[in-house]
Amino acid sequence: MTEAGPAPETRPFQAEINQLLKLVINSLYSHKEIFLRELVSNASDALDRLRFRAVTEPELLKDDPALEVRVEPHRDAMTLSIDDTGVGMSRQELIDHLGTIARSGSKEFADALTKAGQQKDLSLIGQFGVGFYSAYLVADRVEVLSRAAGTEEAFRWSSDAHGTFTIEPAEKASRGTRVTLHLKADQTEFLEPWRLKELVKQYSDYVAHPIQLLTTQTSGEGDAKKTETTRESINLASALWQRPKSELKDEQYKEFYQHLTHDFEPPLAWTHFKAEGNQQFAGLLFIPSHPPFDLNTKERKGLRLFVKRVFIMESSDELLPPWLRFVRGVLDSDDLPLNVSRELLQDSAIVQAMRKHAIKKTLDLLEKLAKDKPEDYLKFWKSFGVTLKEGLVGDPEYKERLGNLARYASSHAEGLTSLAEYISRMPEGQESLYYVYGESAKAVSGSPHLEALQKRGYEVLFLTDPVDEWAAQSLGKFMGKSLISAMQANLKLPETEEQKAEQTKQAESLRPLAEHIKEILKDQVKDVRVSERLTDSPCCLVLPEGVSPAFLERLLKESGRGTTHQKRILELNPSHPVVKYLEAAYAKDPSSARVKDWVELLYDQALLTEGSTLEDPNRFARRMNAVLVEAAGARAS
Ligand code: ADP
Ligand code: MG
Repeated sequence: MTEAGPAPETRPFQAEINQLLKLVINSLYSHKEIFLRELVSNASDALDRLRFRAVTEPELLKDDPALEVRVEPHRDAMTLSIDDTGVGMSRQELIDHLGTIARSGSKEFADALTKAGQQKDLSLIGQFGVGFYSAYLVADRVEVLSRAAGTEEAFRWSSDAHGTFTIEPAEKASRGTRVTLHLKADQTEFLEPWRLKELVKQYSDYVAHPIQLLTTQTSGEGDAKKTETTRESINLASALWQRPKSELKDEQYKEFYQHLTHDFEPPLAWTHFKAEGNQQFAGLLFIPSHPPFDLNTKERKGLRLFVKRVFIMESSDELLPPWLRFVRGVLDSDDLPLNVSRELLQDSAIVQAMRKHAIKKTLDLLEKLAKDKPEDYLKFWKSFGVTLKEGLVGDPEYKERLGNLARYASSHAEGLTSLAEYISRMPEGQESLYYVYGESAKAVSGSPHLEALQKRGYEVLFLTDPVDEWAAQSLGKFMGKSLISAMQANLKLPETEEQKAEQTKQAESLRPLAEHIKEILKDQVKDVRVSERLTDSPCCLVLPEGVSPAFLERLLKESGRGTTHQKRILELNPSHPVVKYLEAAYAKDPSSARVKDWVELLYDQALLTEGSTLEDPNRFARRMNAVLVEAAGARAS
């Protein structure tokens, strides 16, 4: 805590604030009017916080029972004030909140600023919300006079945005904050009552507190001069989510979303519902059209809990599970106590019921979007699919519905497919869904593991997100059909008796070579056997139960949770010319150095095709070259 000094004190802005100010002024010059939305939004937040505190400390309301925002243009002084009767700010709060980026996203913001380099544009600023500093779009000096609720002292913060701000003790009759903008000479439109009314209607109609426009008229001259102030309510001042759906227009929902998130882009979809019965609550939930910058932080904002219209808190995991953390909006309960704490939320049956309903409504919304607007749904999936899929791992209750919403790349065609579409394409005889897992569709689409499946006309899903392998295993079955990894060792494909007999015969005759290879690769593989899955490749590596695919092994290792590379089973294609050649060469000379070389070369190749890295890439290249030189020699002679 800093001691309140009697004299004005001048302090520098934090470096990021200077950057933010520049960015705001340079990129938003054609959207100057948003300053009013930002300042009214801050006033409304301050009123929300006061109303919440007043539940337990009613005396806070004593100095002024009104909870409202007042917008006051003063033509003579060329100022516009936005005044609220909210919580106010102490001296230290003025310094912290208006002089540093103390918001939750501050670090992300600073990082994004650094990364964005020259192209600091609207989309970047849109992600973070411009906030208080947007005042400098229209003002060359801003004063903030504030008195924290429950205290006697007031302070004035002021700055012309040239690197420093000043703070000094001041007088204010009652609690709250008054932000006064000294308008730039060319911004007089923001003194016009009609313009202010228009802006409040457009941006802030949904603010739940009354916004009053106070205008002062002067008439007469000299001693007869009279000033008269008129007061007019200029917004609806009702909670949008409590109003009947039939009365609301899309535009109002979109504006409310912007009010809540400060996102420049409209939401992709929303759902508005009321539950009546054992419990009463209303909800209005939005799907953003791009990932919010704070999506993966604990302090993410934008899903708000209200109780009987009173804002209680920004909530994260209590109201919706982490796999729906992209959802923004409001839930308003009639049954919770106003003084509800976060601990109480966690094990409240009321919250549980609300949460369940909200999950259901969100999944309904996504299903509807997938059905009615497949293109928007794909846009959603690209932004939030990875997040949603976490639900497959974490929440078995919603498996079937999440399976329905999942989209994957596949061998069928470019683009993404649903599991239901995959099943509808399954040929006669195919009983399961098959997938391969790896870094990208491109990296897995040529994998040897696909060969036998494709020969049978089976489609293969390409799973390429880190979470996919776990998600697929947790899903287990979809529409009664198992999801099976084409890379696993015990892959069983439908076969005729004849095929089976043929394989037993091949296995028998390949046994001596297989044993020999096992000896050569004894430190690298768990077993060597005849493959039923290969048609074009000489060999591949398959995964014994419990062994992670290469891509996952690598991710685990990179994240420091890694185990070492675990031994796979090497499968040989008995009809491949190289395998046939090895069989003959080994029969002729069991100690052939070439057989050993080629076996190691084949093993390295199999590691590469499964997405593993080679321990010794140079050795691989040397061996490869030796084979090529030999082949070239044979050609030349
Ligand atoms: P944000 O509203 O996203 O937090 P702003 O830049 O708009 O960011 O405001 C920064 C902070 O300043 C707010 O979080 C709040 O703590 C404080 N603040 C701004 N305006 C007011 C106000 N009218 N009353 C009380 N606190 C305010
Ligand atoms: Mg704000």
